[in-house]
Amino acid sequence: MKLLILGGTQEARELAEKAINLSNIELKVSLAGRINQAVISQQTRVGGFGGVTGLINYLEAENIDLLVDATHPFAANISHNAAIAAEKLGLPLLMLVRSEWESVTGDKWVEVENIQAAVDILPSFAKRVFLTIGRQEVTVFNQIENIWFLMRMIEKPLLDIVLPKGLLVLERGPFSKDSEKQLLQKHNIDTIVSKNSGGNATYAKIIAARELGIQVVMVKRPMLPEGERVEDVEGALEWVERVRS
Ligand code: NAP
Repeated sequence: MKLLILGGTQEARELAEKAINLSNIELKVSLAGRINQAVISQQTRVGGFGGVTGLINYLEAENIDLLVDATHPFAANISHNAAIAAEKLGLPLLMLVRSEWESVTGDKWVEVENIQAAVDILPSFAKRVFLTIGRQEVTVFNQIENIWFLMRMIEKPLLDIVLPKGLLVLERGPFSKDSEKQLLQKHNIDTIVSKNSGGNATYAKIIAARELGIQVVMVKRPMLPEGERVEDVEGALEWVERVRS
């Protein structure tokens, strides 16, 4: 059986590394190509399919039997496309979505619906902001005056975008609580803007903010399609085993 994993997350990478050893499974992995990720198998393809139609054409041309959507929780377009394509072709589809972070005692979160809502709310209380939302949506913050931004991303933004006023650091997680605390203190940060990505790799900044009494503007996840879902790689592997037998 041919399994397609829609990837772009650590979980997708781990699932691919395990699924490749399953008997009777031929693996394909698809990446958006947002960052220069290491190629995880010879079967990796990179780049958009061309919307739902392109995805359907690809699934048919490659004779895909099973689909696991292990994309980032904020990559909602590809997830909706996958749900439509799978339904149209009658393919079993599983979403592998890590659980959200929940606020605990001591957290000072302001939850907002989307990135624009974060832009709208920041000027009412923030002066020095740590932006940890990746590089795709960072430009919308350049409409804000009077706030200094520390921006962290894995790779440089595209050359033609105008960054908000501040400092850019290029780093890939996981990060430790202590190094996050040092960074926040060094730059006198009063507010963090984060997506509710979940997972451990970038959670240290949330603990650091809690311990330092720093505010977090937490961007809620976009709506994902209905359907079968698991939260971890083991659950996804079990699903693959079950569906193929
Ligand atoms: P998206 O809005 O869901 O996807 C936009 C388009 O990118 C899709 O319609 C599809 O193009 C292509 N695409 C996305 N994932 C793909 C995959 N695995 N294989 C092939 N094509 C794929 O997602 P996004 O633009 O990548 O990101 C949206 C949000 O997710 C951002 O907030 C970003 O920071 C976050 N995020 C994404 C990734 C990632 O690897 N994608 C990783 C970390 C964070 P076609 O319509 O042409 O098929």
